[in-house]
This record gives sequence, structure tokens and C-alpha cells, in this order.
Amino acid sequence: MNILYYPEPVLHKKALPIKDINSRAEELLEKGEIMLRLMYEAAGIGLAANQVGLLERLVVKDETGEHKGERVFINPEIISADGEILEEEGCLSLPGIYGKVPRAKKVVVVAYNLKGERLEMEAEDLLARVWQHEIDHLNGTLIIDRMSPASRLAASRRLKELEELFREGSSKVRTL
Ligand SMILES: [Zn+2]
Repeated sequence: MNILYYPEPVLHKKALPIKDINSRAEELLEKGEIMLRLMYEAAGIGLAANQVGLLERLVVKDETGEHKGERVFINPEIISADGEILEEEGCLSLPGIYGKVPRAKKVVVVAYNLKGERLEMEAEDLLARVWQHEIDHLNGTLIIDRMSPASRLAASRRLKELEELFREGSSKVRTL
């Protein structure tokens, strides 16, 4: 598994809900551990399954970078959202692209852990942003789909570069 970059088609596809968590726990743990390793290597704070080519509703995140606590989440869903805040955001699948993305300030998220336990979590500011970003990935939505028109325009040259590198099948994208 590797982190995939825009415009890889899987990034614009919707991931499917994961069923029978308990009987798949071992496999999901393994996928989660690989995703966490790739996320840390790329100095990211969250990664969604689409970004490694899996169309399953699996997300890893560690916004503190402490390598501990609950970090693998299954079927995450926002059940309520409050307020709005516009901040700069980036994405591991869009190297070199940053732009202002509007997000809810506070969210309540329901997800399952690897034991199949239901978790209900409140998140605010950066953590709320990470949840919204990762759940967007599971729905095939990227930050460029939500950026302000000005940010999108500023990113347009870099997007073209990424499209060209993808067409060439180039691995240079990693060093952008
Ligand atoms: Zn992302």
C-alpha cells in the first residue's frame, strides 16, 4: 500500500460501509496499522482508506502525533455539526496544495473501534476539521472540491502539474 495522489480516480469514489467488524478485526487491524505507518511517514494527522486505494469506510488519525490512544475508526459519521470556520487546509493526496476550506467548528462523530464498540465523540477546531476532512475522503470529496474560488485558482497550476505527473505515471510527485 502507498498513499495515492490526485487525480487517482479512487479518490473521487465513495467508500462502502464495513460490515461484521468483529469477524474482520484482525484484517482491519492490519490495514489500520499500515495506514498509520504511511500517515506518520508522511507527517500527516489523518488518512482515509480511499487514499491507499481501499473503498472501505476506515480512517486513521492522530492529531496529537503521540502514537497512542484510539487511532483506527470504522464507519465514522458526523451526527451533528455547529458553527463555521474558514482555515487553511492541506491533504496528503494533494502535495503542495493548501487553501482555505470552510468547516463546521464543532462536530459530534459516531464511529466504531476495532473491537466493534460504538464511540460517540465531540470534536472542536482542528480535531473537528480532521474528522470532516477524512469523512469527506470516504465520500469521494477532496479539499479542492470545497476550497474558496480564490484558493482553487491559486492551486490551479499545481493541480495541472499533478495531472501531468499522473498521466506520465511519474513517481516524482512524492518530491513535490
Ligand atoms: Zn486528505
